This record gives sequence, structure tokens and C-alpha cells, in this order.
Amino acid sequence: MPIDATQLYDDQNIFAKILRGEIPNRTVYEDEWALAFHDINPQAPEHVLVIPKGAYVCWDDFSAKASEAEIAGFVRAVGHVARTMGLVEPGYRLLANTGFDAHQEVPHLHVHIFGGKPLGPMLVR
Ligand code: 5GP
Repeated sequence: MPIDATQLYDDQNIFAKILRGEIPNRTVYEDEWALAFHDINPQAPEHVLVIPKGAYVCWDDFSAKASEAEIAGFVRAVGHVARTMGLVEPGYRLLANTGFDAHQEVPHLHVHIFGGKPLGPMLVR
């Protein structure tokens, strides 16, 4: 079920539980600002999720309320992960679904990194 991007943060969401170590994940990278892990249901040969350590529902919440340090740290982490996955030269795609129409399912901001094959043109179906 897609979530309401304007809802209050629910610390029982699955990614909050992953951040607290209550649910296992296949970690790719972790620093002060972000955690990156393999998506449980990959949609491309490389499919990693990057989430901020802070409690933000979605991109809107994060871009409006996060500190400059959180934003810089998170954006740098996304770039670092893609770089260390070797995806810069072949190319990759970022996606941050936000709210109902984008079918965001987990109410903790996550950026998808897709790569590992030619992804074709962006599709908005
Ligand atoms: P959304 O539709 O919210 O942008 O994407 C949520 C993503 O989280 C989906 O790609 C889904 O496969 C992934 N996901 C959901 N639950 C889990 C989980 O428990 N572990 C991991 N690693 N990924 C999850």
C-alpha cells in the first residue's frame, strides 16, 4: 500500500527497524549519515537502497527539515555508494518515490540505486 507523504514519522516502519538492527539487511555501506543495503526484491542486477540515519518520511520531509550536514552527508553517501559499486562509468539511475502517486511503500526516505545493465529510457507509465 502506498503511504501518505505528509504523515508523521512512524518509528515502527521496516527501515527504522533495519537502522536499529532489529531486522537483518545486506549492508553495502554505512557512515554517520546513511545506511545502504541491497533491496530485498531487486528490480535490476544492481539494486541498492540508501537511507538517511535521521527520521524522515520521504524526500519532501527530508528536503524541508534536514540540516545542511544531514543533506550533504546523505547526498555524498549516495554518490559514494554508486561510485564504489563501479556504476559511474556504465551509468546508473536514482529514484526516490514520494507518496501515493509514486507508490512509496516504506515511510522512511530511501533512494533506490539501479544499475548493472542498460536501463533504457525513463518510463512513467
Ligand atoms: P518504495 O516503493 O517505497 O520506493 O520501495 C520500497 C522498497 O523497499 C522496495 O523495493 C522493496 O523491495 C524494499 N523493501 C521492503 N522491505 C524490505 C526489507 O525488509 N528489506 C529490504 N532490504 N528491502 C525491503
